[in-house]
Amino acid sequence: MSTLTLPALKEGEEFVCDSGCGSTTPEQYDFEYSREEFPDGRVISKTEKAWRSACCHACVLVYSNLADSFTAIEDYA
Ligand SMILES: [Zn+2]
Repeated sequence: MSTLTLPALKEGEEFVCDSGCGSTTPEQYDFEYSREEFPDGRVISKTEKAWRSACCHACVLVYSNLADSFTAIEDYA
């Protein structure tokens, strides 16, 4: 099971909630990207680690005060 590394923010940047809560804390969860259910009751669930906001489990964005821009945490490098 792999874990994600929280990106190191540069000066003037902060994590914000996509639902408009403002500043937030990212938390990891298991995102289910594939799920198969069989007639015999078997379930094959495939998950991967992803980020969500701790406040309301929405997407997390990185807001740059300097550039006044938002970047999805998945696209942040
Ligand atoms: Zn929120």
